[in-house]
Amino acid sequence: MSGKVVKVAGPLVVAEGLSDANVSDVVRVGPQRLIGEILNMTGDKADIQVYEETGGLGPGADVITTGAPLSVELGPGMLEGIYDGIQRPLTEIRDLIGHSIATGVDVPALNRKKKWEFTATAKVGDKVVGGDVLGTVPETPTVLHKIMVPPKMKGTITKLESGSYTVLDTIGTLKLDNGEEVPLKMMQSWPVRVGRPYKRKFPPVTPLQSGQRIVDTLFPIAKGGTAAIPGPFGSGKTVMQHALAKWSDVDIVVYIGCGERGNEMTDVLNEFPELVDPHTGYPLMKRTVLIANTSDMPVAAREASIYTGITIAEYFRDMGYHVAVIADSTSRWAEALREMSGRLEEMPGEEGYPAYLASRIAQFYERAGMVECLGSDTERTGSVTAVGAVSPPGGDLSEPVSQATMRIVKVFWGLDSALAYARHFPAINWLNSYSLYLDSLKPWYEEKFPGFMANRDKAMAILQEEASLNEIVRLVGADSLAAPEQLTLATAKMIREDFLQQNSFVDIDSYSETERQFMLLGMILDCDKLSREAIAQGTPIEKLRNLPVKAQIGRAKSVPADQYKAVYTQMWNDLKAQIEQAKQGGDDE
Ligand code: ADP
Repeated sequence: MSGKVVKVAGPLVVAEGLSDANVSDVVRVGPQRLIGEILNMTGDKADIQVYEETGGLGPGADVITTGAPLSVELGPGMLEGIYDGIQRPLTEIRDLIGHSIATGVDVPALNRKKKWEFTATAKVGDKVVGGDVLGTVPETPTVLHKIMVPPKMKGTITKLESGSYTVLDTIGTLKLDNGEEVPLKMMQSWPVRVGRPYKRKFPPVTPLQSGQRIVDTLFPIAKGGTAAIPGPFGSGKTVMQHALAKWSDVDIVVYIGCGERGNEMTDVLNEFPELVDPHTGYPLMKRTVLIANTSDMPVAAREASIYTGITIAEYFRDMGYHVAVIADSTSRWAEALREMSGRLEEMPGEEGYPAYLASRIAQFYERAGMVECLGSDTERTGSVTAVGAVSPPGGDLSEPVSQATMRIVKVFWGLDSALAYARHFPAINWLNSYSLYLDSLKPWYEEKFPGFMANRDKAMAILQEEASLNEIVRLVGADSLAAPEQLTLATAKMIREDFLQQNSFVDIDSYSETERQFMLLGMILDCDKLSREAIAQGTPIEKLRNLPVKAQIGRAKSVPADQYKAVYTQMWNDLKAQIEQAKQGGDDE
């Protein structure tokens, strides 16, 4: 039975005669078989959000329900893929029909013809449950794709053979507890709006090492954590997200480009395929899935894109991998939500956003986490780390999307237009940013680098003191400050310029390993500590101001990665010697 369209308003289509359909069903609309999803049902009348251009569609057109919710296809072939918000492969579609996306095209998300080399790791007779690994496929040189029993399934393997298969070929059979035999395939599907199951969630205790000094040292995020990057236009959100996608020590990156201007997304599409993964030496795309929704694509698909992205991320998490989901920008996504809500004539909340804005934002971030994966082995853990950019109009963080995001995420990297204007990059404001993972990550840092957190706290204290001293300087001038206070200002400057500033476009500087960060900050803080002792013993601050080693510390960022340990150790020794010398000569002037 099929329904009929009664009204078309942009991406919203109202149809009646759909008594056999349910909320969340995917439907096909009109002669072009446009893809849509039912948002609400009243009797046999449905509000449908259509993921494609509805131009040319009019009342009377047929609507057919597929009886299934919006789902993604999960299996080998997703990595290196570029999808739209409802997982249609953009590259394949382009090859098929030229540049723009035609409507109603049926191109499966996973290639049906490509054969993959499957190596069985389970064997006939094994009793398995959902999540258990049946075998592996070397999907790319850097990622071993694990083929798992779909969640909720349980039984005994009656057949399983290694070989060369397409995603729909039968790789084996499973005898369920009720005696029924079902074929096993490499592909499974999952409804995007439902989180994939796991055994339990852990509090995250391992940092995601991003190689960005201000992140890893001052405001770290845990693997399985959540973070937001709010910032006005031009403050460096995109550069920051790209840096995270490039350098984070995760196995898989899902990058959701959500409704930024078309040309920005094209940058991502052009740039990413050329990047090389510093951890493996292979192209970064070998561990990346891109989801692209430019602002010229239909708004409804944008709404779906973050669910599509996080579902793909959860699937790789289930294999026992660490996954980062980077969504740019959740503000554009929320605008899509607002537009649909407006068309549905729902009661608007703050600034026209629907009243359920905050709960939808929470639903996305709540799917992040460090989990014990489904399956009979208890060893496997995986994580999804969710990072979302927020682009508040005019940089005003009191607007609803920023507020709702800040209530749910645990790390806040606040980008600041004044810092960006002063070309201090990354323009993360150390005075209003925060990380709520400091306590849970402390044991990790302390085990690897004893003293790390104490250094971090000291650096933060110096930066905060600088801010209040600056107030005094503004009122009464720098001369009024005592020597120790002047030293604080000098150290704060070193922390800002020699440590926090990091240029994403200079190869050596774009990535800084955690140990290197620890050494560099330690050296700056030792310079402060030794200078402070010297001042207390009567050395005039003038003698300590222009130590030659300070210029060296200023250039420490550009020391090549394979030499920094030796060079920094030498600098540290020079520092101690030069301060000692300043102390000795303390009386003769
Ligand atoms: P947004 O996405 O917030 O609009 P962008 O990420 O495009 O801003 O950054 C704007 C500009 O700021 C970049 O083109 C670049 O010149 C500069 N920039 C931002 N972050 C850095 C960085 N870490 N290192 C060097 N330059 C940066």
